[in-house]
Amino acid sequence: MDKINGISEKTLLIGEKAESSVFEVFKKIDKVAFANQLKVQNAFTAARVSAAHFAETSGYGYDDESREAIDKVYAESFGAEAALVRANFVSGTHALSTMLFAVLRPGDTLLAATGAPYDTLRGVIRGGKSSLSAFGVGYDEVPLKDGTPDKEGIKRALENKSIKAALIQRSKGYDFRPSMTVSDIGELIKFIKSIRSDVLVLVDNCYGEFVEETEPTALGADLMAGSLIKNPGGGLAPTGGYIAGKRELVSLAADALLAPGIGTECGCNYGMAKAMFQGFYMAPHAVAQALKTAVFCAAVMRELGYEVSPEPDGARSDIIEAVKLGSREKVIAFCEGIQSASPVDSFVAPVPWAMPGYNDEVIMAAGAFNQGASIEISADAPMREPFAVYMQGGLTYESGKLAVLRAAEKIMQM
Ligand SMILES: *Cc1c(COP(=O)(O)O)cnc(C)c1O
Repeated sequence: MDKINGISEKTLLIGEKAESSVFEVFKKIDKVAFANQLKVQNAFTAARVSAAHFAETSGYGYDDESREAIDKVYAESFGAEAALVRANFVSGTHALSTMLFAVLRPGDTLLAATGAPYDTLRGVIRGGKSSLSAFGVGYDEVPLKDGTPDKEGIKRALENKSIKAALIQRSKGYDFRPSMTVSDIGELIKFIKSIRSDVLVLVDNCYGEFVEETEPTALGADLMAGSLIKNPGGGLAPTGGYIAGKRELVSLAADALLAPGIGTECGCNYGMAKAMFQGFYMAPHAVAQALKTAVFCAAVMRELGYEVSPEPDGARSDIIEAVKLGSREKVIAFCEGIQSASPVDSFVAPVPWAMPGYNDEVIMAAGAFNQGASIEISADAPMREPFAVYMQGGLTYESGKLAVLRAAEKIMQM
């Protein structure tokens, strides 16, 4: 590699070696991206997307044509009956919370089938006066066993007839474990339905979209949800979320997001329609760039002697690369390196803080065009053992690679 300002010869050599070792992995990533691009193209054609769909609407948005079209594009691409894609979702947590409140009623129980859900969902499920528990919705949890679903435990838990829905989390979140592949998820859905065909299966699909050629809704998930400032927004959608799945349930989700009776008939697009369509169109490629960045990060950090998950050539179902750094100082140094190679706020130093919704202090390197967008290069970590950092994103492989080299350099200097 040519000289790069502030990066030592040694780090560059490691980078070079790492990159040449993952050539075949990159080829596989390109193949998946092409398959997904084809799906997205077909969905745009089927929905007859035209310039009329990009018009800004205001007020009630009764005349808004973008809603139905973007919903169709998502549904078709994800192998789902229907989808609800809205700028009104303020985050992934909001979309997931809406999905849960849409289907659960007093007396029902939610079963977390893949262990404790993502940190921000804990407050949705239990605790405050607005949580599911305050509305009389019960909760049960079957922890993972050796990093995989505990089928015996799930079977036992399903004997509780009040269980109305099972939640599966695709991504590893802040756990140092393999993410669930879509085929693993498909198998778990089948297993749950074989025991209790009446139980709805809900998937937290955050970070997973377009990493593989299939999405959980194509394999029988009743609903799944995710964030538009992660994979499916392609880096262009300024905000938003989606819920996709069975038509009847998506309709309940629209009621839960807006108001019963309004459903999908109302809501303006705030001028964001074009960015949502274009972002989704770019998403298969953006995800491929993020995956290459993750693979490069894995190869470099393993070369430096750290445990990584997944391995450079390991199976991937989300865009996250976890690196076990082992100390608070190293986590901070890694995040500083990533932040320094971000387009926005590259001059600031990230520090751990008590973020709303999280139990531990969290550090976040996030210098994104869309604030907090983790399809753009970012790294974060809860400040707890084993001091693993979670890196994701990179709108272009080149920018991602530079960020990883900067992070590696910071670690090398310690
Ligand atoms: C990011 C994420 C969420 C929450 O999304 P926010 O947009 O940060 O609220 C939920 N689950 C998983 C697995 C995530 O990665």
